[in-house]
Amino acid sequence: MARPLAPAVVSGIERNVPLRRLLPAELAARHDALVSAFLAEKEFVGCGGLVVSEEIRATIAALACLLVLGRRGHYDALRSVLVYPSAFWVEDEVEDEAGVVERRRRDLSGEAWESSRIILSWEDVLESARFPGEGYNVALHEFAHYLEAEGLGLAAPPATWPRDAGSADLAPGRARSLEAWSADLVREFEQTRDAMDRGAETFLDPYAAEDETEFFAVATEDFYERPQQLRAALPRLYALLQEFYGLDPADW
Ligand SMILES: [Zn+2]
Repeated sequence: MARPLAPAVVSGIERNVPLRRLLPAELAARHDALVSAFLAEKEFVGCGGLVVSEEIRATIAALACLLVLGRRGHYDALRSVLVYPSAFWVEDEVEDEAGVVERRRRDLSGEAWESSRIILSWEDVLESARFPGEGYNVALHEFAHYLEAEGLGLAAPPATWPRDAGSADLAPGRARSLEAWSADLVREFEQTRDAMDRGAETFLDPYAAEDETEFFAVATEDFYERPQQLRAALPRLYALLQEFYGLDPADW
């Protein structure tokens, strides 16, 4: 963590991850340290003919580390990041209602796979990272899946945790149980899904209605890319993400 970032890494992040510029000084220094460790520890594998450049490594590491600025674990079990030049496809087997098994091809811009690998399309990572503010960020989405699956729970709340964050049983300096948090998240998910079913306008991308896991990943994109709008539109959801990430991006 103490190793300074190479100039090519710094310039790659400056060019491709505008969100990084918003970080307050203390978090910016922590972000540099986390990126340095991520680059030293994780293996990047170019797929489909892609040669992984320093810019690609820097950009992906910088996005991943935005999510762990306020958390305990730092992708401890993650070993490799597989990077394709653009959208890739996977084939899997699906069984229909009649029990017929079919091979199905799906086009993807990213996938969090098992606990040790993440697969990303560089084209989609780059396009979505360069234009924040739209609530679309492929890398943040996939790394959010990873962190949820990792199961390390909530961030430790800072002593100055806002008392009006939306949850009555939330006390400064003490994290509440993951079960209580998950129940609140499911409630938010169900309300959003019901609103979408009714055809009501919702702040989140419709993909959030897919299931609780996608709801969390989609909401994470908004939490970092347009936090003030998310807080205004869905304050309880914003507070739940604050609990998970230990951050208040609307303040940045
Ligand atoms: Zn997803």
